[in-house]
Amino acid sequence: MPRIISIANQKGGVGKTTSAINLSCAFALKGEKTLLCDLDPQAHATLGLGVDKKRITLSIYNCLLQKEKVEEAIIKNVQENLDLLPATIDLAGGEVEFLNLANRELLLKAVIDQIASRYSWIIIDCPPSLGILTIIGLAAADRVLIPIQCEYYALEGVARLLDTINLIRTKVNPKFKIAGILLTMYNERLNLTKQVAQEVRKYFGKLVFNVTIPRSVRLAEAPSFNKSIFQYAKNSPGAKAYLALVEEILNNE
Ligand code: ATP
Ligand code: MG
Repeated sequence: MPRIISIANQKGGVGKTTSAINLSCAFALKGEKTLLCDLDPQAHATLGLGVDKKRITLSIYNCLLQKEKVEEAIIKNVQENLDLLPATIDLAGGEVEFLNLANRELLLKAVIDQIASRYSWIIIDCPPSLGILTIIGLAAADRVLIPIQCEYYALEGVARLLDTINLIRTKVNPKFKIAGILLTMYNERLNLTKQVAQEVRKYFGKLVFNVTIPRSVRLAEAPSFNKSIFQYAKNSPGAKAYLALVEEILNNE
C-alpha cells in the first residue's frame, strides 16, 4: 500500500503547494508511481502542473460529494509516473456541504482507498485553513509534512495544527505521524532565517528535515510556465533540494 503524505499548515503562503508539486514530481522522477491530490479550492497545484481548467470535467469535489468514480476524475500521466486528482473552485462550496454529512472526516480516505494500491506515494495539497478540508486531508493520510516559512511568526498557529494532528490520532488513526517539518524559503544569508531555523529546530528537534528549501526565484517562477522545477530549471538549487528531500524521506522509511 502507498505511503500517503498530507502537506498542511493553516498559515497561507508557506510553500505547501510548491512543495506538493515538486515533491510529487521528484518522487515520479525517481520512478515512484505517484498521485497528487489537490484539495485546495484555489487549485494552484492543478494549475501549476499545467492542467487546463477547461479540461477538467470531474474533480476531487465530484468524487467527495457526488460519489463520482475517482478513476474518472484522475488525470493520468501529467508527467511520467505522476497522476493528478484535480481541484476546481467548486470545492470552496464543499466546505458548507460537508457539514451535513455523517463521517465526513473519512470522505477523502474512502475516495483514495479505491485507487491507493496503484501508487507508491500519494501527496495531498491542503488549503490554508484548519477547516473541514484540511481535516479530511489529514484523515486520509498516514503522515503530515508541515512546511514552515523562515519568516517572522513562523511558529504562529503551529500549536493549533498540532492539536488537530492529535485529534486525528485519537479519532481516526493512532499511527498518524509527522513525516517532518520542512523549512522553506530558506535564505542562509539572512540572520532572520538562521534565527527562525534555530527556533524551529529547538521546538521540533529531530522532526525537522535536514534538507531545507532555499528561497529561489526559479521555484516561484516555474508554475507560471506550467512547469515543475525539474522541467523549468533542473540544475537549480530548488530542484536539488526537492530531490534531496525525497532521498531523506526514502531513507527515513
Ligand atoms: P496557500 O496557503 O495560499 O495555499 P502555499 O502554502 O501553498 O500557499 P505556495 O503557493 O507554495 O504556498 O507559495 C506561496 C508563494 O511563495 C508563491 O508565490 C510561491 O511561488 C512562492 N514560493 C514558494 N516556495 C518558494 C521558495 N522556496 N522560494 C521562493 N518563492 C517561493
Ligand atoms: Mg497552496
